[in-house]
Amino acid sequence: MNKMEKILVAGMGKSGEWAVRLALKNGISCLLYDDRDLSLPGALPDDIACGKDVKIVKKVDKLLLETVGLVVISPGFAPSHPVRSISEEAECGLVSEIEFAAAYCSGRIFAVTGSNGKTTVTGLTAHILKSSGAMAVPCGNFGTAFSQAVLESGGEGDFVVELSSFQLEHVQHFKPDFAALLNLTPDHLDRYSEADEYYRAKMALFRNMDAGTPAFLNRDDPVTESYSRYFPPNVKWIGKTPDSTVRVTSDALYYGGEKLIELKETRLRGRHNLYNAAFSAGMALFAGISADRVREGILSFQPIPHRLEFVNEKNGVRFYNDSKATNFDSVVKALGSFPSIRWIAGGRFKGGDFDELFEAGKGRVKAAYFIGESAPLFQKKLENRFNCRISTTLEQAVAEAWRDAVSGDVILLAPGCSSYDQFKNFEVRGDRFREIVNEIGNEGNCS
Ligand code: ADP
Repeated sequence: MNKMEKILVAGMGKSGEWAVRLALKNGISCLLYDDRDLSLPGALPDDIACGKDVKIVKKVDKLLLETVGLVVISPGFAPSHPVRSISEEAECGLVSEIEFAAAYCSGRIFAVTGSNGKTTVTGLTAHILKSSGAMAVPCGNFGTAFSQAVLESGGEGDFVVELSSFQLEHVQHFKPDFAALLNLTPDHLDRYSEADEYYRAKMALFRNMDAGTPAFLNRDDPVTESYSRYFPPNVKWIGKTPDSTVRVTSDALYYGGEKLIELKETRLRGRHNLYNAAFSAGMALFAGISADRVREGILSFQPIPHRLEFVNEKNGVRFYNDSKATNFDSVVKALGSFPSIRWIAGGRFKGGDFDELFEAGKGRVKAAYFIGESAPLFQKKLENRFNCRISTTLEQAVAEAWRDAVSGDVILLAPGCSSYDQFKNFEVRGDRFREIVNEIGNEGNCS
């Protein structure tokens, strides 16, 4: 990135704020723009609002952009946002916050994207690196903005960056040292006109990768395969086939012909998590961590809350919180993970194919308890296939599932929907599930 004196940061969410702090630290002054009014009291954190090299702008036009070296755009700004076309007209570069942060990073970048499993793989990869003695920070969509991680570490160390398709939309020169594309299934169809547009946004990850930078891809995902024209030169496969760099069987991972780990030894549940572990292992092994250390890291990893998280066991009934299962593919994986399920689902519907849910749950779902806005829809689509009922609230659903459960059953919250109809977000929904479960007395109705 060329040396510059002034940038425009468009979108003052968390990543925008940290991009500003990173810019200021590097002697770059910032114009701040957002569709909301940034001059209102409390609209910006004090350090930024009072910053001496900071100025709020209420309108972005060509003239203004001719005065700045670069626009750093927030992932929240859709591709159709006018800032984009105006910056093109003004011939002013436009990059995502990820790319801006990467320019100040001298350490290694491990980039993780995909439709499902990003947070898990980001957390697990950083955990393996850290437990092997490296300085590694999970960041990006994971929670800590990449700019924050770079600023706080002085740009040194390993950065495991979780990337959404939104963050990849504005990538031009971003070049990770290691990349993982976990899988591709339809999502975010409220932002993209079709799945292909969403998948192509993810392919930006590979744009600048060369023979020296390995990209780990899912051999067993047919959608990934169909985008092979975008693959970089150095592909490492994760999958079932013998040519896979890390091979995944029904219950274990293999590297170089040696068994690395068995799923049952870990705290992770579900075969999809074997794939996740394989991606993390692949990146860590190629980053120079020994197979023994990788194995130890996977063994000591605590699953991230709300992702098929074990909550409790009462009278032989186990409770799992998969509140983050907001799309159907993640529910399919959750339903495939247990033999005898009382399944709680529903919320704000985001789309999905009910036949896939039926196929995944056939012979496994003993009963389904539907909640929230989409409960009538789930009931209508699945009533002839599963034993279903409308429970309306999460409290009611847990109470009914517990009343019906027998020892050996799993009571699983895997909503397949967003939480916004009844909860602030998926974390609040999962926390509430955990609370309700932990309030159940051990001498309840379960026989
Ligand atoms: P992301 O950050 O991509 O949303 P998470 O790790 O937060 O991924 O997991 C989101 C949901 O997807 C959870 O319900 C989790 O159990 C499920 N999941 C995790 N890994 C995979 C995978 N490899 N394939 C499908 N679903 C997965």
